[in-house]
Amino acid sequence: MTGKLKNDCFALPVGTYWTPVSDALAHLQSSLSVVVGRETIETAHARGRVIADDVLAQRSHPPRANSAVDGYGLAWDCLSETENRIPIVGGRAAAGADFDGSVPFGSACRILTGAAIPNGVDTVILQEDVDVEEDTIVFNGRGKKYANKRNAGEDVNAGDPIFAQGHKITPADMALLAATGVSTLPVFKRLTVAILSTGDELVDDANDPRENAIVDANRPMLKSMFEQFGCAVVDLGISADNREAVRSCLDKGAKQADLIVTTGGASAGDEDHISALLNDTGSMALWRIAIKPGRPLALAFWDGVPVFGLPGNPVAAFVCSLVFARPTVMQMSGQGWNAPRGFMVAAGFEKSKKEGRSEYLRARLDGDQVEVFASEGSGRISGLSWANGLVELDAPARDIEKGDLVRFIPFTAFGL
Ligand code: AMP
Ligand code: MG
Repeated sequence: MTGKLKNDCFALPVGTYWTPVSDALAHLQSSLSVVVGRETIETAHARGRVIADDVLAQRSHPPRANSAVDGYGLAWDCLSETENRIPIVGGRAAAGADFDGSVPFGSACRILTGAAIPNGVDTVILQEDVDVEEDTIVFNGRGKKYANKRNAGEDVNAGDPIFAQGHKITPADMALLAATGVSTLPVFKRLTVAILSTGDELVDDANDPRENAIVDANRPMLKSMFEQFGCAVVDLGISADNREAVRSCLDKGAKQADLIVTTGGASAGDEDHISALLNDTGSMALWRIAIKPGRPLALAFWDGVPVFGLPGNPVAAFVCSLVFARPTVMQMSGQGWNAPRGFMVAAGFEKSKKEGRSEYLRARLDGDQVEVFASEGSGRISGLSWANGLVELDAPARDIEKGDLVRFIPFTAFGL
């Protein structure tokens, strides 16, 4: 599904007051589509880019049959099951320097790893398995026919599909693209995400003389997070808690970006200008998700551009970004839906969890036990750096004792 998003795509089914995380995610998955266009780029710059069309190998790998080892090449049919004494012909086969002519039946040629298999050769005897006596190799038995011979195209044949739409190019992929002669690639254009912090207390400069200043932690965090997700980032800076200032930032964002992500001012308080402005657009969906940490999320369209209004609290902004904004960005940028893969590990902590919300705890997997951050206070930014993942506890009440299995999702599973 590609194209423009529908204005009502954030509207959750009416009637539920606290929407379960899984319902909200299912809704995003079904209503979001790829919004970015395509372009062709040089493979050299492809790391982190998302494939827009199936990619075919332009060249077989390996291109020709070659030797997997250093040794002696010969025709296997000339060998006996007992002792073999085979004369070595002159010349040799090396990588990049082919053997000149063909190897006569009953003779062997010196051959090195990666050398093209000469005519007359179908098997390579490992050099460690032979004794060389003047111009003859001596060894027992004949091993397997075709031993140590790599066939042309045994890895990939020219014309084979190597990457499908939606695949994000990794460093490992750069080797396959190079080896199979793919020099340009069809990719999705990067999704552009504009990031705005809101709050009268926020400053960028830690030396700001105001006593009530709080240094903006969300923008640096979200900028690097969305870059890591493969997006281009537009920095909209900090907006004061004043409707006109927020409005002009949203206007600026809508002109430049495919998605606007804001933090702060998303609840329904006096200074919650994001939710007030988005409300006026008529497209606003206030998501009350049964999630901790998290406050209401304000989702809407501003001049046709989707806006994700996240809570201001950095820990909540981080968790809500991973849980909701990440899959949104994946879907809109052509990477497709892919739920972060967690696994069950033994709890190194005790906790009594109430019925209702899904909880995401800053967690650290050390050895085979997972610990959670000492304080659940969602203002504690240090816990984000201490953690190497999140423990996800679903809605039901639960008394967790040490050794009980809990679901751990490493940050790497979120692409961080
Ligand atoms: P808000 O969602 O605007 O009510 O903010 C909730 C809390 O998060 C307040 O304590 C804010 O000062 C704090 N906060 C909001 N935005 C940021 C930010 N960008 N960096 C650090 N703290 C913030
Ligand atoms: Mg605020």
